Amino acid sequence: MIKIDGSQGEGGGQILRTALALSACTGQVFLIENIRAGRRKPGLMRQHLSCVHAVQQVCAAEIEGDAISSQTLRFVPGQVKSGEYHFAVGSAGSAMLVLQSVLPPLLLTGKPSQLILEGGTHNPMSPPFHFIAEVFVPTIAKIGFNCSCEIERWGFYPAGGGRISVSILPTAARLQKIDLCTPGQFSGSSVLAAVSKIPWEIAEDECNTVVNAADFEVVHKQALTVDSPGPGNVVMLRLDYKNTRAMFCGFGELGVSRKKVASAVYREANRFFKSGAAVDLHLADQLLLPMALAGGGAYTTTEPTQHTRTNMKIIEMFLPVSHEISQIDAKLWKLQVESKKSASDKNVSRETFDTRIG
Ligand code: ATP
Repeated sequence: MIKIDGSQGEGGGQILRTALALSACTGQVFLIENIRAGRRKPGLMRQHLSCVHAVQQVCAAEIEGDAISSQTLRFVPGQVKSGEYHFAVGSAGSAMLVLQSVLPPLLLTGKPSQLILEGGTHNPMSPPFHFIAEVFVPTIAKIGFNCSCEIERWGFYPAGGGRISVSILPTAARLQKIDLCTPGQFSGSSVLAAVSKIPWEIAEDECNTVVNAADFEVVHKQALTVDSPGPGNVVMLRLDYKNTRAMFCGFGELGVSRKKVASAVYREANRFFKSGAAVDLHLADQLLLPMALAGGGAYTTTEPTQHTRTNMKIIEMFLPVSHEISQIDAKLWKLQVESKKSASDKNVSRETFDTRIG
């Protein structure tokens, strides 16, 4: 059994989600203590419980400790089953974080699955739907993981009520170790600002602020009013390169000006653009798990976050991989994932997984 201290590093929900996903992928039992000890309200919140129950459903797991505020969870995975699933986060919790937990095991079953997820689609501190659909999904496709996502209804914090569908197809026969060390030629960028139940002009102004202040050409801009159960506002700026994509987002908040929301987005994007990195700070932590499943890979990024460093440690507890971080210059880092030994050395029992690791 793998014992995890949930207070280590970032000390947040990502430790739990990575453990859930990899437990289902590899068939290894885990016990996590001090869940989200680094957060103001520690323990499992409704959103984290949704992730626990979603992964439990896809791999028929036995669990202990699945209660609100619980700081300990024991998870005994069974066989992962492909199929049709419907997961609803019973609050404005992020549906995208539930997807982050169930996607890896379902990608490895070798059979198609169809998912409906309900909850928040554009929540602060979580990957927005557009980041998953336009940045994460195309990047993991280079490894050999095949899926696509559609948004049916937007869900903003705090009302939630969004709905997305995800189609998962069988993984490529052999997964690729990706090399995303150079972004390749910059091919343009696009900004999308969306509002629900607030004036459209806010989105239009946000787009213009980004277009006028970005250090690179913003080729497309789109200001949208979307239909969602509650009010909300998001600004998403996507950068396209020959080899890669990145996205930076900001969320409107009561009392925060539209200019401030948009400025935070272009400043972050400008920093990234100047760095020469291929992978943005959020993709950096989310890409580690699919890369480890493929047995290796490398990318350049801006300064690795605590999320990234913590995720590396948790992944190494489940998979026979090692991570190396090296600083290239003041703004650029390289992260490398390498296979340490054969999967069977680490007691990775799931047959489908064994045959797919490099
Ligand atoms: P907690 O409630 O414990 O803070 P959590 O469950 O909300 O935690 P974190 O541990 O903070 O989650 O992890 C958040 C995840 O969302 C990380 O994978 C991070 O990269 C991702 N994320 C946050 N903001 C963005 C963004 N703007 N774009 C893409 N991904 C994001």
